[in-house]
Amino acid sequence: MTSSAGRARSVRARDARWRGALAVLEEMRREPGVTRAGVAQRLGLTTGSATEITARLRELALLVESPAAVSGRGRPTTVLRPHPDGPVVIAVDVRQEDWRIAVAALDGRPRLAEAAAHASRDPGQVIRTIAQAVQRVRERHEGRVRAVSVAAAATVRHGRVVQSAALGWDAVDLAALAPEPGLPLLIGNDATLAGAAEARYGAGAGVGTALHVTIEVGVGGTLVVDGRPVTGATGTGGEFGHLPLGDPALRCPCGALGCWDLAVDGRAIARHLGEPPPPDPRSYAQTALARAEGDAAVRAAVGRAASWLGRGLAGLINALDPGIVTLGGFAEPLRSAAAMEFGAALADGLMSFRRPDPPPVVAAVLGEDGALHGAAATALDQVLTEESLGAWAAERPG
Ligand SMILES: [Zn+2]
Repeated sequence: MTSSAGRARSVRARDARWRGALAVLEEMRREPGVTRAGVAQRLGLTTGSATEITARLRELALLVESPAAVSGRGRPTTVLRPHPDGPVVIAVDVRQEDWRIAVAALDGRPRLAEAAAHASRDPGQVIRTIAQAVQRVRERHEGRVRAVSVAAAATVRHGRVVQSAALGWDAVDLAALAPEPGLPLLIGNDATLAGAAEARYGAGAGVGTALHVTIEVGVGGTLVVDGRPVTGATGTGGEFGHLPLGDPALRCPCGALGCWDLAVDGRAIARHLGEPPPPDPRSYAQTALARAEGDAAVRAAVGRAASWLGRGLAGLINALDPGIVTLGGFAEPLRSAAAMEFGAALADGLMSFRRPDPPPVVAAVLGEDGALHGAAATALDQVLTEESLGAWAAERPG
């Protein structure tokens, strides 16, 4: 046998081993608390090879096993969980009023580590504050952080923030958020990441083509096809709020005329009530919903916004043909507060062939953690690769 054939065989063996290991880790991510027997069954592994793979993953500090509760006549098995000293990713969510940092292990579930309201609107200062917090979180997970992933309330193009109406920023460089050279730093739009997470783990799970629409300050979202958000040639797709579905006489802060943004969020409700534009449209809108019960004028203003939401959604459904629509942020409370107006506008806007069988429009289930889930998921996609796990294994002692 030549040495090259031997090498080829050992490379194949190594690849096969990582393939099995990756498949097991992906199952642990898909279903936290899954058992070894469950994974073996789903992946078509023999009990012996499942045991071998999990033993190796234990040695590499990638998972731990604990006895599973015995049910029925099944053989005893173990529950698979991320190793307490295993790899983690840091997820950062930069929102209009505050920022949050979470840590996710290989199960992909973000656990909140630090959070604070912005002390300043100055992007330099905001980024310095968050970078210091990322550094503290990294120090608490010495040697374990494999990627940092940022969800920003901003338009992200080619992985860089180019504009944010919510934060009042122009182009901003987030490179300072990478706590050490060489560590992957991923940057995405918050609504896109929330939509991707919703389609993977949330209300859209199992539906091939899912549309996520959320209202925070303006409207955002994404179309997700087979788990991947459709973000266009440069990454800026999904800016649904800047479709010209609103009043063509109104100039949007984005620079365009007649944006849908201005017809559905807190700014729209304030305008209908003859009140000045609120500095924080998100909390203004929440307060308006609370006021609507006892005030007919507020109720009518909320109804108008809900109607514009339904009308715009009908347009998106006509254009994109999703199998499900998930509503995040203020979109769901707005729809519930004025279900009649929303429903009528949606039905009127749908092409007639769609009306008997429109896609379900449901509340997103990940709530305000959606963007953190999405940021953690994209970071873990980079960690759960043969190359990245190989590098992790090479760093282990022994
Ligand atoms: Zn706009």
